[in-house]
Amino acid sequence: MSDSAAKERDRFLAGLAGLFSVSVSDLRGIIVGFHEDMAHGLAGERSSLQMIPSFVGRPTGREKGRFLALDLGGTNCRVLEVELDGRGGASIAAASRFVIPQDCMHDEGERLFDFLAGCIDSFIREHARRERRRERVLAFTFSFPVEQHSVSSGTLIGWTKAFTASGVEGEDVAALLSGAMKRRGLGSVRIAALTNDTVGTLVAGCYADRSCDMGVILGTGTNACYFENTARIGKFPGPFRSVEMIVNMEWGNFDRLKANRYDAMLDAASPNPGRQQLEKMVSGMYLGEIARLIIREMMERRLLFEEGYHPTFSAPYAFTTEHLSLLAGGCDEVFADLGLANLPDEDQAAMLEIGRLVALRSACVAGAAIAAVITWMEPGLEADHAVAIDGALFEKYPGYRHNMQAVMIELLGDRAGRIALVPARDGSGIGAAVVAAVAAKTSRRIA
Ligand code: ADP
Ligand code: MG
Repeated sequence: MSDSAAKERDRFLAGLAGLFSVSVSDLRGIIVGFHEDMAHGLAGERSSLQMIPSFVGRPTGREKGRFLALDLGGTNCRVLEVELDGRGGASIAAASRFVIPQDCMHDEGERLFDFLAGCIDSFIREHARRERRRERVLAFTFSFPVEQHSVSSGTLIGWTKAFTASGVEGEDVAALLSGAMKRRGLGSVRIAALTNDTVGTLVAGCYADRSCDMGVILGTGTNACYFENTARIGKFPGPFRSVEMIVNMEWGNFDRLKANRYDAMLDAASPNPGRQQLEKMVSGMYLGEIARLIIREMMERRLLFEEGYHPTFSAPYAFTTEHLSLLAGGCDEVFADLGLANLPDEDQAAMLEIGRLVALRSACVAGAAIAAVITWMEPGLEADHAVAIDGALFEKYPGYRHNMQAVMIELLGDRAGRIALVPARDGSGIGAAVVAAVAAKTSRRIA
């Protein structure tokens, strides 16, 4: 690369740093915006945050039993057998992971639910064949916005992430799964809980540690929930007693962030334009795609890959957050896997810088959003708050957690020490089992 081209590339990267930077005043604006939209959402007024009552309260830690859990994420579906010991301990007796096929995400909904019933069937065949006829209690974790009608039923408000399966929006997803299980000969499996993944994560965190009062997902998508006093949920039709209930924020749709031209391009080409602004700037499904749009532009302007055009960067979503994460962790084989063996050092450095900027902005926004929710619950920050966090982005991206913490220190000073970010691996499935334990006991008492 000539000197002048190298200079132009440096200028481009410096401009990029400006486009992706989040200033302290931006961060403070995120907190103010969150508090306003949380208030509107709880009151039932127009808001980018839906603030959905979950019908789930604080677990006691004494919930006990063995439960099946089906956790439908955005990329994976997991079936777990969860054992709760009644003393705050949860163990996973068996687990299977299935990658959700593309056609199940996009064709008619029946296909998706038949696939899910098939996952449960093959799990039971593999791990509990002799007990096939026994009645089983299933906790269904469904990682999309659902209007809950009870602890075990609710309708899908709208798909997010890559999903577009038809005939599911507006329908009760627990009933759809139940129907698919009957078709599959699994009529003895009863759904006792329908839980959002973020609610499950908080319940699992709280089952083990009473100071846990917020759950966050940073995986394919992103979302959060926290304990709210029902007296503050103006739109809630339930009893007006003041009790604690988890509110699912659906924060992925928060829409008061400063978007740049790459965000606009990604949004316009997505199946849900104009929606999920925060999710599109933060979560694992999108960080690789934002980086790809930047790399493609640099490639077209001849600021990268002097020897030619690389097809990986022409196909939407072909470059992933996992690629970025592995590169950030120093795994150079990724270059060869992408067809970029022998890439010059400067090109490698430019790609790392792009990944750094995109992931840093994500962690800054996520950290500020957590600070907003914790200060909503307790402005003085005098108590300890544990935040249970599930998802591969948080768990695996090098430096991500550190950057979130740094932002919270920037915003809250020493008081940020009150907030502990706690990894909650498989929390979404374990917590759903805790919810199912409570629900199963209650329905036995009523029966
Ligand atoms: P789900 O969202 O299906 O519950 P995960 O929590 O495992 O599943 O998150 C999957 C997402 O995490 C993928 O879409 C991908 O974007 C991202 N991801 C996968 N591997 C890594 C990794 N090594 N580092 C960072 N992010 C990753
Ligand atoms: Mg998940």
